[in-house]
Amino acid sequence: LILLGLESSCDDTAAAVLRIDADGRPKILSSVVHGQTALHADFGGVVPEIAARAHAEKLDICVREALTAAHLTLRDVGAVAVTSGPGLIGGVIAGVMCAKGIAAGAGLPLIGVNHLAGHALTPRLTHDVAYPYLMLLVSGGHCQFLIVRGADDFTRLGGTIDDAPGEAFDKTARLLGLPQPGGPNVEREALKGDPTRFRFPRPLLDRPGCDMSFSGLKTALLRTRDEIVAQKFGLTRQDRADLCAGFQAAVRDVLAEKTRRALTAYLAEAPATPVIAVAGGVAANTAIRAGLETVAAEMGASFVAPPLALCTDNAAMIAYAGAELFALGHRDDMTLAARPRWPLDHTSPAMLGSGK
Ligand code: ATP
Ligand code: FE
Repeated sequence: LILLGLESSCDDTAAAVLRIDADGRPKILSSVVHGQTALHADFGGVVPEIAARAHAEKLDICVREALTAAHLTLRDVGAVAVTSGPGLIGGVIAGVMCAKGIAAGAGLPLIGVNHLAGHALTPRLTHDVAYPYLMLLVSGGHCQFLIVRGADDFTRLGGTIDDAPGEAFDKTARLLGLPQPGGPNVEREALKGDPTRFRFPRPLLDRPGCDMSFSGLKTALLRTRDEIVAQKFGLTRQDRADLCAGFQAAVRDVLAEKTRRALTAYLAEAPATPVIAVAGGVAANTAIRAGLETVAAEMGASFVAPPLALCTDNAAMIAYAGAELFALGHRDDMTLAARPRWPLDHTSPAMLGSGK
């Protein structure tokens, strides 16, 4: 089976072609991502209207590029998978409309995919990982622990109650005058800094469960920055590096401790081959990753991290999730709707909340 995948839920327009071989192993034939960072650079964040228009303009181009790179035509494709939520609704609509057009025109089955399921299933695309595994999704827009039991069966153990860590990295960069995206730049500064000079809060560690909070960290950083500025009329390079190091250490500690708790809940179910997998841009952070690897090793679980290009937004993960859903018998039709909110776990309180 060959699938065409489409992704347009945030600020990346992406298309990919994926083949599932007879033995069930997936092979990515092409994966094209057109980012929109430059379009939003002047606004300090993603502007939904600009994103939607850019997706509408770029989707066809991405599809053509993905097919060309795979040396295939639409005639070779057996199904179309598309992100149908959650995300910025204009972009999701653009993707769903494009996928419906292709599916109707070429007479292909259509599969709507939850963007978070795409991230959560990526470890099975890149590694030989069996269900159930524990997943930490940690990106610019999301932060949650999931037990992944199947392509349409997730249990959410907890997550952020406010900002996602990537968002906190980006805001920290902004507060310290570092360029966007903040994560890699804060990490670079942190390498030169002393993580013990400033002690930032580790919120919610005193409370049971896997919920996290990162917005207070940013406020603490702002306060400390302003104190230094008031004393010395500015920040030295060392001050900035120390602030970054202190901030990163706090995020690392919170994620590591909450991972310990999530692993405890997961291991209580006695999985045959315990695995914790990560996805999302923040998983690129070496210090954070090392913190998670240590906890995994201590608790006897193997640690799986897909390559970064598949951890951040892409369409190969959507095609792959589509393939698993297709195998389970999922099919959508021309009534497929774009959903701004769509929690993976339908018993989760996120149904009522922010959807993060
Ligand atoms: P989502 O995929 O949840 O919709 P997104 O597209 O913003 O959100 P990703 O593309 O997965 O998320 O990741 C981008 C985020 O990862 C940014 O917030 C960025 O600052 C952060 N990030 C990237 N590299 C690093 C790093 N080395 N350290 C910390 N954070 C990082
Ligand atoms: Fe994403």
